[in-house]
Amino acid sequence: MENFDVLSKQGKTLATIIAASGSFLIAMLLPDIIWAKQQARTTISTKVTTNTLNPRANTQENTQISSIIPKNMNTTRQKLRELELETVDFTIPKRFEGKTVQKITLQNRQKVIALTFDDGPWNKTTEQILDILEKYNVKATFFVVGQHLNKHQEIGKKIVEADHVIANHTWNHPAQKSKINENRIKSEIERTAKLIYEITGKNTKLFRPPGGFLDNGLANYAKENKHTVVLWSTDSKDWYERSAQEITKKVLNKSRNGGIVLLHDGGGPRDHVVKALPNIIIGLKQQDYEFVTIPELLTIKDRELYQEELVKQQGKKQ
Ligand SMILES: [Zn+2]
Repeated sequence: MENFDVLSKQGKTLATIIAASGSFLIAMLLPDIIWAKQQARTTISTKVTTNTLNPRANTQENTQISSIIPKNMNTTRQKLRELELETVDFTIPKRFEGKTVQKITLQNRQKVIALTFDDGPWNKTTEQILDILEKYNVKATFFVVGQHLNKHQEIGKKIVEADHVIANHTWNHPAQKSKINENRIKSEIERTAKLIYEITGKNTKLFRPPGGFLDNGLANYAKENKHTVVLWSTDSKDWYERSAQEITKKVLNKSRNGGIVLLHDGGGPRDHVVKALPNIIIGLKQQDYEFVTIPELLTIKDRELYQEELVKQQGKKQ
């Protein structure tokens, strides 16, 4: 029995090393892939400029660009997915640590959007939402309320087992503008983080302040503790709109590349959200969106900024 334990420990260590090397390799390769793509794009655009006298050649080149780039983007996204799955916790790129994100603008030709669900886990509706997301193969980010997670621990586990991202939305959901007592702030965030870890084994560094209020001390505490404070760019208004059609229309009309959509799976009856969700997903897919989690969205933005920095550095050297 003892020997078996030792063997299994060794196996685990080996698996950890392999997993870590895998992550390392992907992390090392990813900038190269993007860099190579940047080179390809620069070459192509140079060609287009030199062909200004021949419009037909331009059309040909443009067709080539549009057929090459989305394919490359898909590869990049697959790499991102692998990267996320290889990491033990939901790693957020360093530059977003202690920052607030709301509007992410992307150059990426492949449009991406992040669906986020707040205030759960909730009886029935969270699981219905998980089923819909699975049906359409969409990954999302769930900002859970600690006391709700405590009540529905099994649903919390299901969120993570389905490869969605779980994030912190305080213990009691204090949605107030005025200052909150320091001890309470600490406990709202830490107690929830601890429970998320106990139930799912995930260390989240993503925090969303209830009501999006940034001045009551919660967001500052989160940032001081290296969390990324995540707001939203598209409010579905599902917390007061009761019609699934209205919610769908709001999301589809306000969608944008790099967008963060605010929806609710808990905190009250959310049947209208469950009803709206398939149409939201279908509508966004028709607009050519791919769905990403918040860590993926931040990683894509991080790589774009990295790419810009490389170009700037190259420019300085020349
Ligand atoms: Zn909330």
